[in-house]
Amino acid sequence: MTEPAHGVTLEGIYRARHRLAGQAVRTPLVRSAALSARFEADIRLKLETCQPTGAFKLRGATNMIAALIERHGRDALAAGVTTASTGNHGRAVAYAAARLGVPAVICLSSLVPANKVAAIEALGAEVKRVGESQDEAFAEVERLVRDQGMTLIPPFDDPLIAAGQGTIGLELMEDAPDLDRVIVGLSGGGLLGGIGAAVKAIRPACRITGVSLSQGAAMWESLQAGRPVAVAEVESLADSLGGGIGLANRCTFELVRAVMDDHYQVSQTAIARAMVDILDHEKLLVEGAAAVGLAALAEHGIDVRGETLALILSGNGVALETLDRARTIAGR
Ligand SMILES: *Cc1c(COP(=O)(O)O)cnc(C)c1O
Repeated sequence: MTEPAHGVTLEGIYRARHRLAGQAVRTPLVRSAALSARFEADIRLKLETCQPTGAFKLRGATNMIAALIERHGRDALAAGVTTASTGNHGRAVAYAAARLGVPAVICLSSLVPANKVAAIEALGAEVKRVGESQDEAFAEVERLVRDQGMTLIPPFDDPLIAAGQGTIGLELMEDAPDLDRVIVGLSGGGLLGGIGAAVKAIRPACRITGVSLSQGAAMWESLQAGRPVAVAEVESLADSLGGGIGLANRCTFELVRAVMDDHYQVSQTAIARAMVDILDHEKLLVEGAAAVGLAALAEHGIDVRGETLALILSGNGVALETLDRARTIAGR
């Protein structure tokens, strides 16, 4: 079999699963009685909120670091791994590197609040404060790679990252072999692409439904344009879905194109209501990015009657102020 251009194969996802054993949690898939009744479907929640870092990104980061150690030996990573992310990816790289015995430097701008810096340091990484923007922090990452021989761990655009996230798809197929649909939040596309690669290889009839923000959604705009394009970033309750896909995207743009069946955009109000619903009815605290699947069901009236479907609750990295804001917007 020839390898697809995006480089993500079922075999690569099985290899990722092997590497994740004992490092990331095999998360539960739990039926929601309230949502099943509300949408006349069998709705299951995939609880990536149970990962030790609070989000699925641990899967991709662990897979990439472990694969590089396998291929090139631990000494090749002696200078360490690096990335620029204040959010779930930064936490994932910090945690995975510490567990795998590799040094990590997370570059953050001086505007990142002290509590976020402390949280990443507590996971065992060194934090380097540089500049006043994400771009300046990323320029420092590039310098560390060039001048100090460090290895970049990107947030989504690498077959090893997408394959790591794809282990979610394997777990879904084991726990719900008759699944009709997966609804997934979509930003850079590592999560949706990886899950889609696994699910389509095992059960092609299962639909992969992507959900993006209604504003500042780089993947949405890029799919419309037929090539990666840049968009202005917009403040959102679902901050983990912000950011571009990279104008030189080499993996996830093609991968998402290959595996996604339908695609919706959701408003801030729908995200806020979905966050509060999940907290109130499921007693689960999720961040905005993790609530977009329910937001799409509610806002677009997607007809899922009679289906067995999974919503990916991708993470719980939400500040109390953001939860307050969601409650204000939702009016509950
Ligand atoms: C990163 C992230 C996403 C989106 O994943 P991509 O691979 O960038 O599409 C969704 N939810 C959460 C919680 C995330 O951290």
